[in-house]
Amino acid sequence: MGSRGQHILLLPFLAHGHLIPFLALARQLQQTKGFTITIVSTPLNIQYLKSTISSDSPNIHLAELPFCSTDHGLPPNAENTENLSPHNVPTLCHASVTLEAPFRRLVHDIMDQEDGGRPPLCIISDVFFGWAVNVAKSVGSVSITFTTCGAYGTAAYMSFWLHLPHLHRDYKEFFKLPWFPDSHRFHCSQLNPLAKVANGTDAWSMFMRLQISLSLGSHGWLCNTVEEIEPLGMEVLRKYLKLPVRAIGPLLPPAALKKPYSSSSFGSNIFKQRAGKKLGISQEKCIEWLNLQGPSSVLYISFGSQNTISASQMMELALGLEGSGKPFIWVLRPPTGFDIKGEFKEEWLPKGFEKRMTESKQGLLVHNWAPQLEILSHESTGAFLSHCGWNSALESLSQGVPIIGLPMGAEQIYNSMMLMEEMGVCEELARGVQSDIVGKEVIMRVIELVMDKKKGKGKEMQKKASIIGGQIRAATKDPGGEDEGSSLVLEALNDFVSVLSDA
Ligand code: UDP
Repeated sequence: MGSRGQHILLLPFLAHGHLIPFLALARQLQQTKGFTITIVSTPLNIQYLKSTISSDSPNIHLAELPFCSTDHGLPPNAENTENLSPHNVPTLCHASVTLEAPFRRLVHDIMDQEDGGRPPLCIISDVFFGWAVNVAKSVGSVSITFTTCGAYGTAAYMSFWLHLPHLHRDYKEFFKLPWFPDSHRFHCSQLNPLAKVANGTDAWSMFMRLQISLSLGSHGWLCNTVEEIEPLGMEVLRKYLKLPVRAIGPLLPPAALKKPYSSSSFGSNIFKQRAGKKLGISQEKCIEWLNLQGPSSVLYISFGSQNTISASQMMELALGLEGSGKPFIWVLRPPTGFDIKGEFKEEWLPKGFEKRMTESKQGLLVHNWAPQLEILSHESTGAFLSHCGWNSALESLSQGVPIIGLPMGAEQIYNSMMLMEEMGVCEELARGVQSDIVGKEVIMRVIELVMDKKKGKGKEMQKKASIIGGQIRAATKDPGGEDEGSSLVLEALNDFVSVLSDA
């Protein structure tokens, strides 16, 4: 690898769910001496990363690309999907393409400073930044695409955008995705709102199709998953991307990879509470509450870093939880249509709900943000009602915790189906994104099914989740140690670099 220089540039998309796995990847790479690792992003995202990188990652450099959101018709300081209303996300995506020119300049500046004008060893870019593949190739760097989600979700999402199967003349209620076996039928509810209007000429599909197609020109592909847990997803990606594809996951906080879980290990890692997130409860209080509950008795409910549910779904969920009689921790946010970081109003829940749940100790209501991994790794936690974002799914499964799926969009709608039908560790409350509310009866029935670990489906799901948890933890060669995971990434880099050398 030496002859090409040792600088590795990482270029994540402008969303927290992408920045964090890229940062984890950077952390693994920096454990190997001899590499200079630089993460490149826009000013506000760099600020966020700066506050997130702790003193144990001194060798991760950050480089800013100039970007002014208002120049693109976006609100001020809109550099991350988290601060945007959904209709503005495509605008941010289009605006992100303008980063190509300053990125190219940065790469040339780096080369000017290098001995003999050497190019970076490789540029690892997000699938949403396909333009970076051309930059890498033009200077002779190895170009690697990194998708931060699982293999099945990545394959389904990309296949959808490349083929737009809902435009096919046979499409009625179900559609097929060309890369998947015929037995995999997708329901019209598995078109997220953006996809429903996608016809190939609208702004959103033009962006997705171009960036994915450009990414297919890279020398290799990395996925945040574990080979053993996603055989079908990996097979599909390898067959259709026609590129070397490597599973380098799990990119998870180190503590998630240890069992039994030790909360002290959280102190020093780069995931320190995702900087900027205000915990709605102290970690100690949460653990104290969980300590009072029986083993595997608690249902944890959370919908990721930027989602919430409708007001009527919130009401129905509250009724279903109370009716189930099971202990629960619920991360509450204002419903859709309101500022999700704003104040929570009592009227969004059944009358007296919070008081009843608190007094009876059936429920712990956490506002805005909970220490998720600490909750999932506690022995009292028995299931996770989740939107099936990939980080949440991996975190849950790494702790052997089965999932109840309520997907909300993006590749979550494929993740939850895969978790249910391929892995057998999930029961969906609904398939895809339903326009109807999931009623309290369905919620109670599914909770009962999943939380009953003594018989039937609940027992089976628990068994499978425990096996998959073991496979996830085993995927790091030195779990929790200095070298954790880095060998997988290095093996992949070696592979990709030799592909380029042989070309
Ligand atoms: N998370 C958390 N506390 C919360 C909600 C979310 O720590 O109250 C973290 C969670 O542990 C995960 C991330 O936020 O690492 C959510 O990522 P995911 O991919 O599941 O969903 P996204 O936010 O990208 O939709």
